[in-house]
Amino acid sequence: MRGSEEREVEIVKGHRLDYQLYKYLLQYFSDSELQGIFESIRKPPSKYYIRVNTLKISPEELLKLLREHSVDVYQDKDLPEALWFPVKGPNKVPSARKYVLADKKASESVYVGANLYVPGVVKMNKDVKKGDEVNIVAPNGEIVAFGIAEVNGDEARSIRRGIAVKTLVSVYNMPKVRDLREYELGLFYDQSLPAQWVTHVLDPRPGDVIVDMNAAPGGKTSHIVQLSGGKAVVYAFDRSENKIREIIENLSRLGMDGLYRVEVRDTRFLDIDEPDLINSVDKILIDPPCTDMGVRPRLFDMKTMETVKSAAKYQEQFIKVAWKLLKPGGVLVYSTCTIPPLENEDNIAYAENLGFEVIDISIPNTSGGLVDRYRNSVTRFYPHVHDTPGYFIAKLRKPTQMRQ
Ligand code: SAH
Repeated sequence: MRGSEEREVEIVKGHRLDYQLYKYLLQYFSDSELQGIFESIRKPPSKYYIRVNTLKISPEELLKLLREHSVDVYQDKDLPEALWFPVKGPNKVPSARKYVLADKKASESVYVGANLYVPGVVKMNKDVKKGDEVNIVAPNGEIVAFGIAEVNGDEARSIRRGIAVKTLVSVYNMPKVRDLREYELGLFYDQSLPAQWVTHVLDPRPGDVIVDMNAAPGGKTSHIVQLSGGKAVVYAFDRSENKIREIIENLSRLGMDGLYRVEVRDTRFLDIDEPDLINSVDKILIDPPCTDMGVRPRLFDMKTMETVKSAAKYQEQFIKVAWKLLKPGGVLVYSTCTIPPLENEDNIAYAENLGFEVIDISIPNTSGGLVDRYRNSVTRFYPHVHDTPGYFIAKLRKPTQMRQ
């Protein structure tokens, strides 16, 4: 562990926590566990997952189709619609004499094999000419790939789109699934394994009224439509017009037009905006914005206790509304892609205080809660243990009869 200034700790290269958050996490993890977690966060999981759109094709048929054009792909042993591709790396990246600086988001994509697109370029010197060998460098100075410039350095500022550098060797290689014809045909959706489990925990059935309170870009909404055979009443809400557009685009590609309803809503106020839903929903999914500490790969990051606390407060507001919308006996599934118990187990405690009951869930190859009370009821995926993104899933029920 390298302590930098007193107020900040660098857990592993590029991953920093303010001292308060570091101290807080030490209540739950040892120093070496924290290092293990952040070491893994720097890398992609060794398997890249997609979810078969079983409304269009069976997992076996898609597996066969993909293998026909010699894609190396396998079926998950526990979740039949989950297929995965091996992720290759780390590779040795050759050095070039020139470099192109990319922004953080673009660097993280290039790091796993994507080309560098013009909007992701931060700096490309005039001496870089089309056809030159270059290194693509992340904002933290790390070399993420070796490739060939597709534009001249002095053009990069004047053009808006297109490839700036074609990536030849990156640190990791994930399959470019979005280039596949099967993607265009809507035969699958790329989605991590824990995210796929979330909808199974929700267990959508034909006839259910289901609300997805944080739906964009539609990964779990489309899985809900899929698992209910298109026969549930599914509401997809998110807070901006742009986000709603992403949902519509994705679900349309998957052939799900007309099988769900979609609206711009700040769902913290759904009880006010959709009063008809009060006491009438069978199942609710809350997949709220969080501090994202389980998202992989992430080259560098800085998190503070303050951001964790304010995320947790924000998340509580969705839980409160879900309580009002659910029918007695209705089910709430709560999931995040982050690590701190404040955003996870503590929010489940908050839900219990409102009157919710926790329902045990069991998913193969996962851990239980980090807080004793939820050791055997909620589920955690750890990056350094389960080779997945970090994830939290809990299931709750609004009792049919209120306890006194
Ligand atoms: N469930 C999605 C991922 C959700 S990410 C999937 O599986 O594909 C969290 C989402 O919460 C973001 O899209 C964000 O726009 C949305 N969000 C944040 N604040 C919100 C609010 N107040 N009301 C509704 N949605 C919100």
